[in-house]
Amino acid sequence: MKRHPLEVLATILCGTILGDQRTVAAAEKKFSGRVSIDSRKLKEGDLFLALSTGQRDGHLFLSDAAKAGAAFAIIERHFEAEFASLKLSMPAVVVADSVLALQLLAASHRDEFDGLVVGITGSVGKTSTRSMLYEVLQARYSGRQSPANFNNTLGLPLSILELECTRDEFAVLEMGAGQRGDIARLCEIAQPEMGVITSIGLAHLATFGTPLSVAESKAELFESLPENGVAFFPGHDPFALVLKDKAHCRTVTVGEDTVNDWTIQQVRAVRDGYRFVMDGQDYFIRTVARHFVQNAGLAIAVGREVGISNAEIADQLAKWQPVSGRCSLIPHPSLTILDDCYNASPSAMAAALRTLEELGEREETRTIAVLGDMAELGEISEREHRRVGQLAGGLSIDFILAVGQHADLIAKAAKATNLSLHRLAVARDVEMAWMLLECWIEEGDVILVKGSRSMGLERIVENLRSFQ
Ligand code: ATP
Ligand code: MG
Repeated sequence: MKRHPLEVLATILCGTILGDQRTVAAAEKKFSGRVSIDSRKLKEGDLFLALSTGQRDGHLFLSDAAKAGAAFAIIERHFEAEFASLKLSMPAVVVADSVLALQLLAASHRDEFDGLVVGITGSVGKTSTRSMLYEVLQARYSGRQSPANFNNTLGLPLSILELECTRDEFAVLEMGAGQRGDIARLCEIAQPEMGVITSIGLAHLATFGTPLSVAESKAELFESLPENGVAFFPGHDPFALVLKDKAHCRTVTVGEDTVNDWTIQQVRAVRDGYRFVMDGQDYFIRTVARHFVQNAGLAIAVGREVGISNAEIADQLAKWQPVSGRCSLIPHPSLTILDDCYNASPSAMAAALRTLEELGEREETRTIAVLGDMAELGEISEREHRRVGQLAGGLSIDFILAVGQHADLIAKAAKATNLSLHRLAVARDVEMAWMLLECWIEEGDVILVKGSRSMGLERIVENLRSFQ
């Protein structure tokens, strides 16, 4: 970020300065322009922002930050007296709320940034689409994408603060919503010029209440776009009209259905991935998951909008690597391990099960689905877990191992589809699931591991990785 004098920063943050003139002048000279919230990763000259949210209060690490070479700190008012007693060599800007300060810093930095900002939200597919679009835009431009899953009110400001105004030409930012108003708040900070909504599903229904409310919350991204912006979304989505209605700018729809402006055609599985045609161009993406084709279509449409040619986009997309934990393959000498344990919602669960079936049919091997709970579904939780069981039982999947609190629901629904009992198992926890799974595995099996983050199913993936 811009190396503002502390007085200017204090004004931006509605804060006050703690420190004498000499230390303030030294801090301004030392300030690198980088912001750090973690004293372990802080580099000489960084601003240390003491966040009081999260597992550990950042204020406890002010001495460490000073030792690591922080130029100055941002602290909350409640810590002012203690800060003075620490007698550190750095000054501080004192604010009422450190999270708000982080957001204000990011908003101010965004104002300095002339490049293109694209916001991406949706119930599923944000991270995958974001990483594909990042690859596409790199054909002509240099820029950044949100790191990891930095998509909330902390992660998004931190992603923005990473932007280098003199070098970066674009930012692709993932935006997640836990409740109504979240996306609007993120947009206030990021001011996106283009927006992509990947899908509307049932994720986080516990807080949103109804699917319409989910759609309206994602549409806050479109509402925030300027009149000369562009809104991208699947035109075949049941809530497409709601999304269109909220955009006061041009809209571009993408999908396999012909209702879309850009139609994805001739989708076919090939060695190592999927091929498809859009706007007369043949594309390849390296994935076993057919549902990623839709995400790629959206990334292509944005690329076209900023003047990148079909051929360049195709070259870039062919380089894209799946993001781990999202229907990604884990290398193994004798098994095919489909790692999808980053998260789970009903639509992602259905997409993963279909991917497993397709892989099994293509490779003519046995298939095993290890299915964990889907979190945050509220009152539709029971119904949706039953639906998963019903779907899994109805597909050509050889073995189903349900694990977690809702395992019984999945298993009972799968059993009702006439899946024979020796192909079905229930485990209370991950340890038990692994014991059962070990008895089933044979050389050549394709194994899907999928469940919500809180299930910790990555432990099963780790065990599979070293399974001989
Ligand atoms: P999160 O909210 O956890 O950040 P996300 O929206 O970033 O999720 P991804 O991480 O890309 O989404 O994918 C999450 C899950 O959704 C994965 O299991 C992935 O296979 C599945 N998924 C991704 N895109 C689609 C899609 N278009 N349709 C159905 N499922 C999808
Ligand atoms: Mg994500």
